[in-house]
Amino acid sequence: MSQKTLIVGFGIAGASLAHRLDEQDRDFKIISDHSQQATRVAGGVINPIALKRYKKAWNADLFFPKALAFYKALEIKLSDHFLDLRPTYKALKSAEDQNDFMAATDRSFLKDFLSSKILYNDKIFSDADAIGVVNSTYTIDLNTFLDQSIRYFDMRFLSDSFHYADLKCLEDHSFNYAGEIFDQVVFCEGYGVIHNPYFTDLPVYGNKGEYLILASDDLQLQNRILKSKYFLIPLGDNLYKFGANYDRNSLNNQPTQDARAHLLEQFEKMISCSYEVIDQVAGIRPTLKDRKPILGAHPSYQQMFIFNGFGSRGVLGAPHLSQILSGFIFGKKTLDSDIDVKRFY
Ligand SMILES: Cc1cc2nc3c(=O)[nH]c(=O)nc-3n(C[C@H](O)[C@H](O)[C@H](O)COP(=O)(O)OP(=O)(O)OC[C@H]3O[C@@H](n4cnc5c(N)ncnc54)[C@H](O)[C@@H]3O)c2cc1C
Repeated sequence: MSQKTLIVGFGIAGASLAHRLDEQDRDFKIISDHSQQATRVAGGVINPIALKRYKKAWNADLFFPKALAFYKALEIKLSDHFLDLRPTYKALKSAEDQNDFMAATDRSFLKDFLSSKILYNDKIFSDADAIGVVNSTYTIDLNTFLDQSIRYFDMRFLSDSFHYADLKCLEDHSFNYAGEIFDQVVFCEGYGVIHNPYFTDLPVYGNKGEYLILASDDLQLQNRILKSKYFLIPLGDNLYKFGANYDRNSLNNQPTQDARAHLLEQFEKMISCSYEVIDQVAGIRPTLKDRKPILGAHPSYQQMFIFNGFGSRGVLGAPHLSQILSGFIFGKKTLDSDIDVKRFY
């Protein structure tokens, strides 16, 4: 008899896992509410390079090609367009910064992405005379991706909160949730995991991020992303996302006046143009102290799993790691110790 899996949470973690199980024709259900919204508000930038020090992001050589292949295949499967190539223009604010950028253009992996030609006297930034170009960055429109995935999963998707008290762990290691039997439960609740009584010992902390949504007819960025202190990401129709900041204190999804004032100040330092603030959004990045994701099985309930801890790079890592997790759950493959939830037990 085929096994049935319950996925709790439908951000990038739950959605990636659901698509992996669907590829393998597995039987599953998804339950998710709107209590967390990291994926819905994220910039959706797929960038394999840490732009502060021009280093490869963790595992980016593995994650980047997997992410592109995954999202391209899903555009076909879901019959919609949500992936765009958008080169990033990075402000180089000092001679040292320019030297560091140039040095990186010679390094393996990085040289495939960074243009060796620095742009000078390009009047894009007010706060820099030189620009380093990262050619192969992409964005994914995460709301279209999630909405189309929900439409595709149809009856398998239940829009509701998961009530932990209603989960019964049965003697044969399966679960009864609200009268339905599941062989596995996989928790993908993002920062909502802090309310999960089965994983109370994990050192997950939240890192709130906010974006301003700006409208400007003056800015003509075409498809380019700009990066100075923060990112300016084109959304189409003369709309732009600007941010996101990091705040470890006010951990809720409410936009704040402080972040708005700070982001506006930074925007006006970075660029000179007329604009209007259309909206402001906030979400919480689920982050671990060691900045690595968490995958794997509960120490006592062997068919209960977790998929979380994506911090600020969920869009890059989830496609590969969802494949690794499904291999662990169904193929009895082992997990690397640096991502295994076991490292905290
Ligand atoms: C402002 C901001 C900008 C970002 N920009 C980028 C970027 O450009 N590129 C990038 O790679 N990453 C970015 N990130 C990081 C990325 O968004 C996260 O790593 C990722 O979205 C986390 O996904 P998740 O699925 O784990 O959590 P979430 O997206 O938060 O999804 C969890 C889901 O589970 C649901 N849930 C929780 N508890 C329950 C429950 N009890 N019952 C039912 N449902 C529940 C929530 O409501 C939610 O739908 C950004 C994050 C923020 C906040």
